[in-house]
Amino acid sequence: MSGPSKTTYTGRTVHAEAILGRELCARLPQTKVLLVGAGGIGCELLKNVVLTGFGNITLLDLDTIDLSNLNRQFLFKKKDVKQSKALIAAQTAAPFNPNVHIHPIHGNIKEPEFDIEWFAGFDIVLNALDNLDARRHVNKMCMASNVPLVESGTAGYLGQVQPLLKDRTECFDCIPKPTPKTFPVCTIRSTPSQPIHCIVWAKSYLLGQLFGEDEDASGELDDAEKQGENAQEIATLRKEAQAFKAVRAALRSPTTTGDAARMAFQKVFNSDIRNLLSMADMWRSRAPPLPLDFDSINNGTFILREELPSQTNAVPNGPSKAKANGTKNNIASGSRGVEKLLNGANGANGSTLTAAGLKDQRSLTLGDNLALFVSSTDRLAARLQAGEDTISFDKDDDDTLDFVTAAANLRSFAYTIERKTRWEVKEMAGNIIPAIATTNAIISGLIVLQALQLLRKSYDSLKNVHLQFKPSVPLSTISMCPPNPNCGICRDVYTKVLCDPARVTLGEIVDGILGDGEGKDDGTGKREVSVYEDKRILSDPDWDDNFERTLESLNVTRGKFLTIVDEDGEWGTIAVGLGVLPPNHPVEAPPFVLPSPLPLPPRKARPSTPPSATLKRSAPDDEILEIGPSTKRAKTNDTASIDITSPSKKRRLDEDGLILMESANDKLEDDVIEID
Ligand SMILES: [Zn+2]
Repeated sequence: MSGPSKTTYTGRTVHAEAILGRELCARLPQTKVLLVGAGGIGCELLKNVVLTGFGNITLLDLDTIDLSNLNRQFLFKKKDVKQSKALIAAQTAAPFNPNVHIHPIHGNIKEPEFDIEWFAGFDIVLNALDNLDARRHVNKMCMASNVPLVESGTAGYLGQVQPLLKDRTECFDCIPKPTPKTFPVCTIRSTPSQPIHCIVWAKSYLLGQLFGEDEDASGELDDAEKQGENAQEIATLRKEAQAFKAVRAALRSPTTTGDAARMAFQKVFNSDIRNLLSMADMWRSRAPPLPLDFDSINNGTFILREELPSQTNAVPNGPSKAKANGTKNNIASGSRGVEKLLNGANGANGSTLTAAGLKDQRSLTLGDNLALFVSSTDRLAARLQAGEDTISFDKDDDDTLDFVTAAANLRSFAYTIERKTRWEVKEMAGNIIPAIATTNAIISGLIVLQALQLLRKSYDSLKNVHLQFKPSVPLSTISMCPPNPNCGICRDVYTKVLCDPARVTLGEIVDGILGDGEGKDDGTGKREVSVYEDKRILSDPDWDDNFERTLESLNVTRGKFLTIVDEDGEWGTIAVGLGVLPPNHPVEAPPFVLPSPLPLPPRKARPSTPPSATLKRSAPDDEILEIGPSTKRAKTNDTASIDITSPSKKRRLDEDGLILMESANDKLEDDVIEID
């Protein structure tokens, strides 16, 4: 039998109608829901929204299914491994309700096609995301398009649900978030994007595969094949498992240990990465990793890919251009060699680095990490042969710490992620929280309850709900707070311009949005402003060189925002989202359509205390980064202090430094000054 019977469906509707009320219940089949994320929370949540009676669901996720997801992401089966999460989740959940339409999208929510207009087509957005960056992006898009959002997150036994609506409640960015030290396990195996992902991979996965208990996956794979599941994928997984077996055997036999480190290296940093690369779908929205090669790193001929400055978020203190490969390296072996390596006794700054306090704090080159990988693998293999059954991570066990440091850094090189010193790895390696299915299930239920309140417009009933580790009071609720008046995201006035970025200039947009004012005192008309795209400053009152340039030449295109900040802090900030011209736009007409009426920014109260008092660190003149030749302009402190009352802009200055770019094509050079 496929799908529920007519009786079940009718019975469900009766109960839903009794609980939700006739009006809301009748509205759900037409309500357009965007569900972002089809992972731990997403699977639970999709099931809930389908069973509640929502009829029009768009489900978006950029990931593919990993074997390690299957213990909690219950819409997936073993045969689905390596397929799109969004597609499979939609396929599995659709039969739960015969009247549901689920539109799955395998993609990145930050792609330009998902612009303000696209977001505005939904009645409500539900976040089931596990990373801060994407959550902040969806928050901003919902604030810009004025669509209600329910935000959520889980970490182990803890969870949170927060309904958000522009001008009614706080937004996700009203209170700055501390950088989380924990994260779900599912990002570790296939698509790391931060140093901690690589550290956890080395510590919890690779170390166990090589030196831990024999985790034999072949039984599982046999079963899967018997059931006639995706033979090609099973073959790939079996090959991977077999290759680990060979390495494990080599590590345990005195005759082969000499070559075991090389075998292990080539397996995980070369052939496994090549296998991943062959799945082109995975790398449509991400930078693909680079396979490493043992011999050419060892003899100093390996070439690392040039790291491109990120197109949207150039981070000045990310990994420096990784052309330096380390000097030609003779592998240090034995503990004396490692001691030398970590103390940097061979390094250029030898004398200062040998100070006891700086031990372990030297950044290791690619060659250094290879040497450390070989040396620690040899030491761990010797311990197995001396009779230790299994070895697991202990931050105070130098052999395992060396291994995790080297393996994590090598993986970071392959994925173009910032590397960490041994000292930093020791600090970071201790902090992992498992993803717990029950927490995801509870949070998903709460998301639906808050979504229903938003759809009913029962704004007074909205609650910020926390799931906490207190058996007597597992749930705590807090009434919603009003927006933070200084929030740099939800206090901006949003508008949109439809345009052809190849033909429209920055000046046309800025002048068009400000309008002529006609003597009205409403914030329209010419005034002194600075213009940003994300963290890049594109113009200020003393510098309008870019006004004549097209948006495309400034790399300001569909889906991005131009932020217009009043120089005197008298008027609120206007954020202009860029969309595409309608298909019927006449060719001879100006290549842009301004909003009508023009946005009216609110008049701002001036801060009574000097904002610098609350700044952790202001960005004085000499810390401003200038990229490329820029002899025309002399900067004053004004740029650095623009709108520092806005927490998000203050944070941008604080965390990222201020980057002045004359052109989107400018590259960050090695000699840029790094703030911090
Ligand atoms: Zn806000």
